Amino acid sequence: MSLNLIQILNQENFTRDEIIFLLNLQKEEEIKQLFVKADEIRKIYCGDEVHLRGVIEFSNYCDENCMYCGLRDDNFSISRYRMSPEEIIETAKLISNVGIKTVVLQSGEDGYFDTDMIAYVIYTIKQNSDVAVTLSLGDRGFEEYRNWKIAGADRYLLKHETANPRLYSIYHNGEHLDDRVGHLRYLKSLGYQIGSGNLIGLPSQTIPDLADDILLMHELGVNMAAVGPFIPSPFTPYQNRKHGSVELTLKTMAVTRILLKDVHIPATTALDSLDNFGREKGLNCGANVVMPNFTPHPYRENYTIYSNKRGINDDPELVHKSILNRIQSIGRKISHTRGDSPKLNINI
Ligand code: SF4
Repeated sequence: MSLNLIQILNQENFTRDEIIFLLNLQKEEEIKQLFVKADEIRKIYCGDEVHLRGVIEFSNYCDENCMYCGLRDDNFSISRYRMSPEEIIETAKLISNVGIKTVVLQSGEDGYFDTDMIAYVIYTIKQNSDVAVTLSLGDRGFEEYRNWKIAGADRYLLKHETANPRLYSIYHNGEHLDDRVGHLRYLKSLGYQIGSGNLIGLPSQTIPDLADDILLMHELGVNMAAVGPFIPSPFTPYQNRKHGSVELTLKTMAVTRILLKDVHIPATTALDSLDNFGREKGLNCGANVVMPNFTPHPYRENYTIYSNKRGINDDPELVHKSILNRIQSIGRKISHTRGDSPKLNINI
């Protein structure tokens, strides 16, 4: 049976085959229809406001060895750093002072920052400013998640990377997708707004794998879906692989928006690193979030998950201003709220 694009785009739900069909669209006119539909759904469920999340990459130490990541423990080519709790707290104040209402604390899986240290940072940031705190610290202990929620954390971003269990184990040295999904479910049960996401263009990944990524995020009821391209990083096993396609990333973002509807979707820095207008394109294909990097010098140069990261050598406040201009240049507004998940309003 042949599938009809218009009919599918107007459905409430998609089957796996329909998602594969949409991701495989090749004709320019049809891809445009997909993007227009995603933009319409974004407008209905999220409005025209773009939510900003100020990111602090406070440690590039990591105990893990993910095959695709420049921060992997075995990469001896990068200078490792840890910001002090006071530096993190000061950077969070700076983010709040420029009017951004979400602080994202991001690091590799770094046990040096133990439960109490992270709890102290969260608690102090929340005391100082009226901001939401998102944690992006990788797989940590269940008891830690609980303590950090009590300390005031609002959200947790833990990308599943791929919903293919076999590939997940290959990329993550034998670890299991089920465990990652178990962490996401537990975080949700604690009351965190959860974010997950994938990488487009990882070695051996197929279009059906991407369909499963979207279906997994739908099933988990994520509050944020971060879809970004794989970009190879030097001194990693995948350093000579091709980066993911910008177009396929945009198609995946668009299908995610149409199916998941009331979810936050960022226009990622990785997308912007591959395409000079990556952020604008993302915002026109379903995205409603941008995450400016406020990691101070000299640290930001060394948070190299992938190579040629855009803005890595620039001044954080200049990057922020440039992002504001770019968002406004496409007719979108900057949100001045915390930008909590639209899903939360359902129960109010
Ligand atoms: S993806 Fe995360 S956990 Fe894996 S090596 Fe990179 S920073 Fe560490």
